[in-house]
Amino acid sequence: MSRINVMQPWLGEEEVTAVAEVIRSGWVAQGPRVAEFERAFADRQQVGYAVATSSCTTALHLALVVAGVRAGDDVVVPSFSFIATANAATYLGARPVFADVDPATGNVSPETLRAALTGRTRAVIVVDQGGVPVDLVALRDVCDPRGVAVVEDAACAIGSTYRGRPVGAGADVTAWSFHPRKLLTTGEGGMLTTRSAEWASQARRLREHGMSVSAADRHAQVLAPAEAYLEVGFNYRMTDLQAAVGLVQLRRLDDVVRRRRELAARYHRALDGTGLRAVRDPAWGTTNYQSFWVEVPPEHPVDRDGLLARLAEAGISARRGIMAAHRQPAYAGRDGVRTDLSTTERLTDRTLILPLFHEMTEDQLDRVVTVLTGTVVPSSARLATSGREG
Ligand SMILES: *Cc1c(COP(=O)(O)O)cnc(C)c1O
Repeated sequence: MSRINVMQPWLGEEEVTAVAEVIRSGWVAQGPRVAEFERAFADRQQVGYAVATSSCTTALHLALVVAGVRAGDDVVVPSFSFIATANAATYLGARPVFADVDPATGNVSPETLRAALTGRTRAVIVVDQGGVPVDLVALRDVCDPRGVAVVEDAACAIGSTYRGRPVGAGADVTAWSFHPRKLLTTGEGGMLTTRSAEWASQARRLREHGMSVSAADRHAQVLAPAEAYLEVGFNYRMTDLQAAVGLVQLRRLDDVVRRRRELAARYHRALDGTGLRAVRDPAWGTTNYQSFWVEVPPEHPVDRDGLLARLAEAGISARRGIMAAHRQPAYAGRDGVRTDLSTTERLTDRTLILPLFHEMTEDQLDRVVTVLTGTVVPSSARLATSGREG
C-alpha cells in the first residue's frame, strides 16, 4: 500500500520555469522578484507593507525589535506553539511568559492572555495555531489600554480569514512562514507585514545589515552610492530564486485553501459521532486547516499514541499534536516559566494531526478514516453489525 504523508507541498512546472528565469537573469539574491513578491503579498493580505525575510523565525525577531522589545522586557507567548515563537523573545534577552490556550481553538484567549500579563509586558505574540484565526479584536481590547504591542505569528495562517478579511491585517506587525510544512512555500522563507511605514522601513534596513542603501539599489548604479550602517542589523534576506517561487505559489493559494476545506469537511462528516473531536472554524473566521487535528478523549478505547502507531502500520504518516514549549529542555525549569498550563498540556498530549494536502484524494482520506476509526470498533461489535445486516 502506498504511503500517505501528513503534508505535501504543491509545486509544478510553473515554479520550475520561474526559477529558471531568475537564474538566466543573472540576479539571484534579493532584488526585483523579492520586491514584486512583497507587493503582491501586501495586496493579497490587504495590509500596507510587506518585508520578505529568510524565515518566519527571523520575521518574528524583527517584529519584536520594531515593536520596541528590549532586554529585560516580558513577552507573552502561547506555550502551545512551535518553539520559534518563544525563541524570538529570548533572542532579544526578553523573557517569554507562557500563556495557556482555549481548548476549542488552541489559541490564546482574552482570559488566558490576561492571566499571563506582568508589569513588564512589552508585547504579546498571538498565534493563529494550525491556521485557526485568533479573535484579534478581543485580544486587542486587553492589550491596547496597557500599551502592549500585538504581534501576530501567522506562520500557519495564510489563506485563513478573520471577520471576512485575510488574517494578520489587524495586528501591529505580523510574521508569516513559507516553510514546506505551510500552505505556501518558497523552500525556506518568511514575511513581515505591518500598517506602519516606519516599522516597515526599519525592518527592511535591519534585514540587510542595517544598511542605509539596499544592495539591489547600489547595484543599479555604476558608481554605487556610499552606504552607512545605521545600527547593528542582520542578514535575514530572501533570495529572488525564492520570491519567484512565492509569486507562483501565491496564485495557487485560493485553490489550495478551497481544496483543503473540502477535504476537511469530508473528515468532519466521517468523524462526527466517533468521539474524536476535530478542529473547526471559530465563530469569528475561517481556518485554512493547515493542521487538521483531532483530540482523543481519555475514555476513548485507544489512546493518541496507540492511534498513531496503528496509522503508521498502515503506511499513514500522522503527527503528534502541537508541542508545548514550556516542557522542552530549552525552557523547562527556567526562571519564571509557568507550569500550570493545563489546557496546553491536555491538547499536546491528546491531539494528533491527520494527513491533509492539496493533492490528497478522497480515497486516501477514506483510508485514513478507516484505519483511525476501525481501531475503536471492537471486532465483536463489527461482527454483530454485519450479522444483523445479513
Ligand atoms: C512554522 C512555524 C514557525 C517557524 O517558521 P519558519 O519559517 O520555519 O521559521 C513559527 N511559528 C509557528 C506557529 C509555526 O508554525
